[in-house]
Amino acid sequence: MVKDSASLRNELRRIDGAGYKAYKGIRGEYRFPSYTLTIDHIQGDPFASPSRIRVLFPIKNALFPEEFLDSNLKQIALSDFIGRKFKRGIYQFGRGIRGTGRGGLIWIEAGGQKILARSSVVIVGGNIEVRFRVGLPARGRRILGQEAISIFFTELPRIISFALIYDKREYNYIKNFVELFVDVAFLRDMLSEKGLVSFIGNDSLLPRKSGVSDLPLSRDEAVLFKSPESLKVEFSLPSGKRICGMGIPKGVTLIVGGGFHGKSTLLRAIELGIYTHIPGDGREYVVTDPRAVKIRAEDGRNIEKVDISSFINNLPMGRPTIDFTTTFASGSTSQAANIAEAMEIGTRVLLIDEDTSATNFMIRDFRMQKLVKKEKEPITPFLDRVRELYEKYEISTVLVLGGSGDYLDKADTVIMMDEYFPRDVTDKAKNIVNLYPLNRDIEPINPLKNPMSRIPLSSGFNFLKGRKIKIDNKGEDIIVIGQETIELDKVEQIVDHTQTKAIAYIIYYLVKSGIINNYRTMKEVMDIIDVTLEKDGIDIFSPFSYPIGDMSSVRKYEVAAAINRLRTLKIKQKEVI
Ligand code: ADP
Ligand code: MG
Repeated sequence: MVKDSASLRNELRRIDGAGYKAYKGIRGEYRFPSYTLTIDHIQGDPFASPSRIRVLFPIKNALFPEEFLDSNLKQIALSDFIGRKFKRGIYQFGRGIRGTGRGGLIWIEAGGQKILARSSVVIVGGNIEVRFRVGLPARGRRILGQEAISIFFTELPRIISFALIYDKREYNYIKNFVELFVDVAFLRDMLSEKGLVSFIGNDSLLPRKSGVSDLPLSRDEAVLFKSPESLKVEFSLPSGKRICGMGIPKGVTLIVGGGFHGKSTLLRAIELGIYTHIPGDGREYVVTDPRAVKIRAEDGRNIEKVDISSFINNLPMGRPTIDFTTTFASGSTSQAANIAEAMEIGTRVLLIDEDTSATNFMIRDFRMQKLVKKEKEPITPFLDRVRELYEKYEISTVLVLGGSGDYLDKADTVIMMDEYFPRDVTDKAKNIVNLYPLNRDIEPINPLKNPMSRIPLSSGFNFLKGRKIKIDNKGEDIIVIGQETIELDKVEQIVDHTQTKAIAYIIYYLVKSGIINNYRTMKEVMDIIDVTLEKDGIDIFSPFSYPIGDMSSVRKYEVAAAINRLRTLKIKQKEVI
């Protein structure tokens, strides 16, 4: 039942000075003059994670022009924009932490360099719905009722009207923001059709402020990207804009060049081109096939029955590699597993940087062939698979490589970074290949094959049994579910802790709803996530009886990566019929 906001005010007055538990009584829905406020969850004490609140604001009263709302994509972008504004509103109109613990804190998940489909602001059922957290104030364990009244009746109403009511002075900014998101989504869809795996717009600013920052390097320090003539492509975008830049064609592409010339920076931008960046980021028009997966070595990870036999075979002591299992992978086995797992889910582009690769996985040169006989080397280097991957399975590779010329024979396109400028050196590379033929034995290898399909068994998720499971994430990199921890620090295309949280809840959902059922393969399970996200939206993954604001959308590759790193995972390989 919806109560009047006056009853919230009265109740907060009444419980002023009472024990913290008395806050439990304010759960419920309240009608404010221009919105409905729902208090879904009350924290147990002032130090606990803040209470969950929602505001439902009728979209027609928000007065945003229809042109910002008339497609799903636009609504995602507008929602992201509103979340950012809400966050600014908190700083502007919130009075901050007061009393004990986190009392007075108002928090929304928003911001960052990427435009994400977040659950903190969604447009549904004729409302803009905002989900955020409030630390209910107390002194010690005694309720500060007047402070709560200030939050609900002064601070929040100001924040809400600041963030949710259209300000026509922002027309151009919002138009640009929304159009960018639509344009880039279009561009991303077009890539494959145009024979490309990635596009880097001219004048993009790729380098970041530092190794730990996602913010752009300042304009006077950065060299702006400029496509070589031969790789130039141009697109007309839905907004009417035309954009010109470098297209990376399907096939095998090498990014070569001297150390410190910007190779890794370019690859990193390509990896993140599966996301759309905000205006001013510098990477707005760096766009990559959404099926692109970063592959790296990750020694120490857990591997459960992954068919890495195309890359590694005849391990010492006859250890099988068709269902390779280890609690502590080596550099090469981990890199092989990362590829096999990405292939299993349907990747079409592998992104690899020599900086984070296992050398013995990548190359095996002539002299080493002489010293270590093929029978003694379990590894078929990536060098001997990269063409087959493309020719047999249409899986392209973009590879950063400064140290080995052996790959020149395999490349369709060779881009050299030269003082941060890309140059097309494909022809030059071909000449070198002709002049200096590869001095390397052709070693007999089995044909590349698709890795065996794997069925995740529900017994691997027994830790989800029991009544109260704590599901949490620590930043982007760690999921904690009950006793189990999943480490994702080497899964480099996860960019926000709200994605990590979403992955944790998705895993819980997959098990609880019986989608992981001892019959479905990993690929089938992941495809259900995609369909579910499309059909029901991310809210369906909330483990609570109410929607929450701390998730954002995530690809099936990253969800699979998390499941694959679970140390209790149990797999049955599917019989090939
Ligand atoms: P490489 O992988 O070729 O060794 P990196 O991509 O790591 O080189 O770049 C080396 C350094 O140059 C980094 O500090 C990076 O931020 C900086 N850098 C990269 N691209 C640019 C650019 N376009 N303009 C200015 N600095 C850049
Ligand atoms: Mg590098």
